[in-house]
Amino acid sequence: MYKKKIKKIALLLAAFIFLTGCQASAPKAVEPQKRTNFLLGTIIEITIFEECEDAVFQKAFDRISKIEKKMTINNAQTSEIINLNANGINRPVSISEDTFQVLEKGIYYSTLSNGSFDISIGSMVKLWNIGTDQAAIPDPVEIQKILPLVNYKDIILNKSNLTAQIRQEGMIIDLGAIAKGYAADEVKRVLLENGVSSAIISLGGNILCVGEKPDGSPWRVGVQNPFDLRGEYLGIMEVKDQSVVSSGDYERYFEKDGVRYHHIIDPSTGYPCNNELTSVSIISDISIDGDGLSTTTFLMGLEKGMEFVENLEGIEAVFVTKDKNVYRTSGVKDAFTLTNKEFKIVE
Ligand code: ADP
Ligand code: MG
Repeated sequence: MYKKKIKKIALLLAAFIFLTGCQASAPKAVEPQKRTNFLLGTIIEITIFEECEDAVFQKAFDRISKIEKKMTINNAQTSEIINLNANGINRPVSISEDTFQVLEKGIYYSTLSNGSFDISIGSMVKLWNIGTDQAAIPDPVEIQKILPLVNYKDIILNKSNLTAQIRQEGMIIDLGAIAKGYAADEVKRVLLENGVSSAIISLGGNILCVGEKPDGSPWRVGVQNPFDLRGEYLGIMEVKDQSVVSSGDYERYFEKDGVRYHHIIDPSTGYPCNNELTSVSIISDISIDGDGLSTTTFLMGLEKGMEFVENLEGIEAVFVTKDKNVYRTSGVKDAFTLTNKEFKIVE
């Protein structure tokens, strides 16, 4: 009997030693481990709430780095998208499965929003240079010249041989509005494959929660106050295993004569979109959907955006207006708590 017990303990120990990756050390609380990196033009933070080998973080960052190398349009680099923009004019060029998937999702949201969201916005984004030292209001004549180069219908994908082409010279595909969401989903996949079940992935404030907190309670994700410094929240969203992604006019902008010119461009005018909204946060299972939809609904404005989300299965949203009113879709009323009294919830 005693011998049997020793054998059992030895077996358990052996199993413990053989298991690699990450192990939740059950009831004992483990110090969260956080690693930070700068990729995809933003600060990436991965926090794992379990015992975990350092190599897992490395694998996660390597995955983001690979995605960046395929999709960036930063001129200092090369990528599949840079190649497509330069060499894919009426000529199919090969792209990887990753790039194909993101292009396909990008075209999906461009179609769904009837072109409010448009991944061929790149030449207009470059004209404005928002977020760089050269940011300035462009000559209206230049804006008119660039407008016809924004049309997602001129992007052609071929799934059977993984190629893409564009129909217009000068058109620039820009996956900036969805690439971070895709990267977050892929990091989650890497973590799960390596045995992690409780983690937070943050890509410049786009949050993807893996599982739940070690004590089984939901994660509490802060929703950025668009009028305050980064990290100052207007409310808290409680979620498990979901993504919370925000878009707004406060991320990258410059101001001139009291007007804020920000980085989300309305493809119908060529100017930063200007409606009653200052931010939208989307709650979804998949982060690329949250990323696509936060930008899309921000462009649509409050009324259309709310209606749009209410009709989508499994998606919720919190809209914040410039006059500090907060609107929530029907499925998120219990999960969102307003913490800043300068704002007002509108039922
Ligand atoms: P952030 O990158 O700050 O998280 P978003 O996800 O909303 O914000 O994406 C903004 C980026 O999307 C811009 O920097 C630009 O690259 C791209 N973009 C701008 N306007 C549009 C648009 N109308 N449709 C699709 N992408 C856009
Ligand atoms: Mg987005």
